[in-house]
Amino acid sequence: MKVNISDSEMIVMRAIWTLEQASVDQIACQIAASNDWSVATIKTLLGRLVKKEMLATTKSGRKFIYTPTLSECQAVGLMGQELLDKVCAKKHVDVLVKLIDDAKLTAENLQLISKALAAKTPACHVACDCLEKFSECACNHNHITEDMRIKESV
Ligand SMILES: [Zn+2]
Ligand SMILES: [Zn+2]
Repeated sequence: MKVNISDSEMIVMRAIWTLEQASVDQIACQIAASNDWSVATIKTLLGRLVKKEMLATTKSGRKFIYTPTLSECQAVGLMGQELLDKVCAKKHVDVLVKLIDDAKLTAENLQLISKALAAKTPACHVACDCLEKFSECACNHNHITEDMRIKESV
């Protein structure tokens, strides 16, 4: 599944995550405080999120109740995965170092990251996957000679 959602859709998702499940009125109420969106706008966003399978609907009387199909934590996990998918495997390390650099982290958080790092099994070789992913390589290296070297070493 892909979490390809806009900033506005994210605001709606956040409201529903807070409410756990909600009708249009409840969502409008929750969002109204910070955004002056019409109910029609919110309905459009809800429709898109249902189409993207981020929300499921059940009928309660004449009202639709919206329930998230995944938790905020799961959604953010998938977004992180998608971010890595947009970058060559060789550059994942740069993305991660930059994210750690930019994030606000407590000593406790850092400990958790250290633990995760210690538990991670290192890969012996990370190959450029630009060609498979984007059909064009931006890594400044020669694929033909490198692929040959990898084949020889196997
Ligand atoms: Zn690459
Ligand atoms: Zn490459």
